[in-house]
Amino acid sequence: MGLKLSFLGGAGTVTGSKYLLESISHRLLIDCGLFQGGRTLREMNWKRFAVEPAGISAVVLTHAHLDHSGALPLLVKQGFNGMILCSEATAALCEVLLRDSGHLQEQDAKYASKRGFSRQKPALPLYTVKDAEAALRLLRPISFHADCELPGGGNLVLRRAGHILGAASVELEWERTSVAFSGDLGRHDDPIMFEPEPLVKGDYLIVESTYGDRSHPKVDPQRAIEEVVGATTKRGGTVVIPAFAVGRAQALLYYFERIKLAGGLSNVPIFLDSPMAVDASEIFCKFKTDQKLSYDECKRACAVATYIRSVEDSKRLSDSPVPKVIISASGMATGGRVLHHLRRFAPDPKNTVLFAGYQAEGTRGAAMISGARTIRIHGQDVPIVADVRNIDALSAHADADEMLGWLKSGRIAPSRTFITHGELRAAHALQSRITKELGWTCVVPEQCQEATLN
Ligand SMILES: [Zn+2]
Repeated sequence: MGLKLSFLGGAGTVTGSKYLLESISHRLLIDCGLFQGGRTLREMNWKRFAVEPAGISAVVLTHAHLDHSGALPLLVKQGFNGMILCSEATAALCEVLLRDSGHLQEQDAKYASKRGFSRQKPALPLYTVKDAEAALRLLRPISFHADCELPGGGNLVLRRAGHILGAASVELEWERTSVAFSGDLGRHDDPIMFEPEPLVKGDYLIVESTYGDRSHPKVDPQRAIEEVVGATTKRGGTVVIPAFAVGRAQALLYYFERIKLAGGLSNVPIFLDSPMAVDASEIFCKFKTDQKLSYDECKRACAVATYIRSVEDSKRLSDSPVPKVIISASGMATGGRVLHHLRRFAPDPKNTVLFAGYQAEGTRGAAMISGARTIRIHGQDVPIVADVRNIDALSAHADADEMLGWLKSGRIAPSRTFITHGELRAAHALQSRITKELGWTCVVPEQCQEATLN
């Protein structure tokens, strides 16, 4: 009997990545992410897992972003007790991200109880900090490129995927079948992250398609940032940048440091208002061999911003009329401190809201980019009068050409390729390019679809 692969998330959407691989005796889960975006997606986080978590032998984690790791505390809370295999940097980042996620879930529940808009009384958190800590105890960091044994025989190898610190593509050899998962793929020529490494093995391939239907414009991100920030601050405005705390926040610090070094934006103060991004920046400097910057370059980039930790300082920052840049999480404006900055700055035409990466359907970020006149924050309609910009070139995801280039550079010719982690249009666009240019058989699986391998 061959293997069975089920798509429990990340199919037809960019969030909730969860792929279950089953042999006759064992179950492996690749990624265990939270669904993010509109209400229907978020409600899927409350459903029970399709299989008993206690019956899963191990989890393999491609990277630390919550749409890949954020449901681990739930899995553990519901009985999973195996090991969670991931790279060393991913483990270090999860320490920060999962704890913070537990904390946010607790806060959301408290807020819902207070406002009375929860069906449960009192409202329960999806999981707590304690649940997150139980998941962290199961993390088993492994080195890139090293053979690692899997429960039930077989092995796995992690290859660098670029994208963010610690991000990996995974090659599994299990029950005489090799299955490769791209994970989220980074850019070529990224100033900070290495290029995604070509795949060596993969009878079957599961590949992401976030930008499967797009090419990143050939603009220089550094120049684009300098132009937007320069124009806004010149008219006395503030630039609010919603940014993923892990990855984009550090890339932005790097670009601002380069701009200032070249003499640009000399009087513009930069603030990093996200305790999590501050912690992630420290981890970033520690993992010297996992990115291109030297320790000194890393420290210099981190020093370009004033770090804001306390809520009081964050509120004071919102009230200050001085033209400035505020980098704050979350990246798609789905939560976090960036919300109170948007409430304060978005209604004024002097200001700019600058997006620095992919905005999933159903998020406030996607609504603002497509021209929404108001967005709802904490029960209030906030008018969007500020200039709204999106610099796609800042994305941490490969575009369609880069993805094709990466696939061609590998030594594989999979008998079937599954296209996941993209809105349907992007997934289908990538499917037709792979079919045409590589001649591979591709499938765009639906949520909960199952496939037999071999
Ligand atoms: Zn990611």
